[in-house]
Amino acid sequence: MEFGNPYQAPQNPEPAQANIYVNDRFLLMPKNTSLPERCLKCSEPPAKRYTQKLFWVSPWVYLCFLINILVLLIVYLVTRKTTAVSYSLCARHAKEKRMRNWTLAGFGAGIILFLIACAALESIVPLWLAIASMVAMIIFSLVKPLPLTVKKFEKNQFWIKGAGDEMLTLFPKITDAEVAPKSPSS
Ligand SMILES: [Zn+2]
Repeated sequence: MEFGNPYQAPQNPEPAQANIYVNDRFLLMPKNTSLPERCLKCSEPPAKRYTQKLFWVSPWVYLCFLINILVLLIVYLVTRKTTAVSYSLCARHAKEKRMRNWTLAGFGAGIILFLIACAALESIVPLWLAIASMVAMIIFSLVKPLPLTVKKFEKNQFWIKGAGDEMLTLFPKITDAEVAPKSPSS
């Protein structure tokens, strides 16, 4: 169920797609960017539009875990870079995304039920099942990631993976040398 918001500013029919470049399998995008109205994965006609929030933190931040999980959390929240990318999916890929969400929700419900059973039955077995479900859930979310993932953030550009071959041909290619020009002004 989706109703138009009468208070929303009119959508720009040609979203800003300037400053997007391609390097290998990655889209290099500035903060908050829109991708063209075609399936992100296969370039078929779009069935649904999404906006995905993406976060990136420098990998060293995770070393804060060695100090304290609270320190890790604070440093993560303070230093993380966020962006939102809007993109479209065709009916088939939208269905795949929906199935992923349902599978994760299923794991989540299973974990809660096992934890409840653990308390109700005063047994340790459901706790192990809950932990096993949690591990399975993490593995599943890594094997089937969200349509877009961030690999790195450099020079105000997010390196984003997940676009299909045809989408990658729509933007100018940029070499590693061009990505990091030896400019004294930066
Ligand atoms: Zn598709």
